[in-house]
Amino acid sequence: MVASTFNVRLAAAGQRLERAQALRVLQLNLGRLCNMRCSHCHVGAGPDQGHTQMPYAVVRQCIVAMDRLQPQCVDLTGGAPEMHRHFRELVLAARTRNIPVIDRCNLTILLVPAYQDLPQWLADHQVEVVASLPHWSQETSDRQRGDGSWEQSLEALRRLRAVGYGTGDPQRQLTLMTNPDGDRLQPLCDKITDQWRQKLAKHGVTFDQLIGLTNMPIARFRDWLVAAGRLEHYQQVLENAFNPCAVRGLMCRDTLSVAPNGQLYDCDFNQMLDVPLPGHTIADVMPETLAGRSIHTGGHCFGCTAGQGSSCGGATVAGP
Ligand code: SF4
Ligand code: SF4
Repeated sequence: MVASTFNVRLAAAGQRLERAQALRVLQLNLGRLCNMRCSHCHVGAGPDQGHTQMPYAVVRQCIVAMDRLQPQCVDLTGGAPEMHRHFRELVLAARTRNIPVIDRCNLTILLVPAYQDLPQWLADHQVEVVASLPHWSQETSDRQRGDGSWEQSLEALRRLRAVGYGTGDPQRQLTLMTNPDGDRLQPLCDKITDQWRQKLAKHGVTFDQLIGLTNMPIARFRDWLVAAGRLEHYQQVLENAFNPCAVRGLMCRDTLSVAPNGQLYDCDFNQMLDVPLPGHTIADVMPETLAGRSIHTGGHCFGCTAGQGSSCGGATVAGP
């Protein structure tokens, strides 16, 4: 019933949601293993999720698919994607094909002894780092990600800066990704970005871009909403903020999300809800299979169309 509500709102706004002709982003979810366990996590990741890692056979299929699909970008996500034992092989496979790579990094992983060479390695291979930092304030950030995580994240950001990230170098782009604390909408605007720059500069941290993601009412965040008795309220907030202008930039139009088992999805959120694109896997999908295909929607999609819109690249419409 909720799924049709989204489609009804789309239709009423004269909008249709279908996949674009060209694939822009090949997003590989390497598994839910993570050194953290954040309250807003929409994939339910944590240190006990080692059994969810993408098997090597699927890693190889993803590499072969880079030639077939010719994406404009390979986006590595998780969990903490760096913890996958073939993370570097995937990065190298994309870079040797001259495909830009995004590492969705939780920052604290860069302080774990086994990964301390990563900032330099990422810089050497010109990998864009999209780093999650809920807020510039220690208190708000630690509330979502755990005590001490803000201090560790800032130390990781200083290490990234030491190898050239966040300094305006186009080969070493650092994007910070924030999300609201609790059941509020993403409030980002230029003024807030300036505030982040000023606050973080006092700690020796700089960045190239700040983007915001709306919290999605699925997985661990949904559990939190249910426990707090706020699920219906939050869903209503998202629906009331439906912005038809946000539809055009939705990531599901030109992103292919690949699960650790090789199944295909319109986006990471549909992956978590297990609503796949049937008929193909990463082993055999062709560009023409995706072009113009309809997109699986549901009540959670209101999270992407609320206010400024929300996607892995941040807002889908320009802010105030
Ligand atoms: S939000 Fe990111 S860092 Fe936090 S548990 Fe989930 S995957 Fe790990
Ligand atoms: S959750 Fe967002 S990205 Fe995924 S299908 Fe819905 S609108 Fe598209």
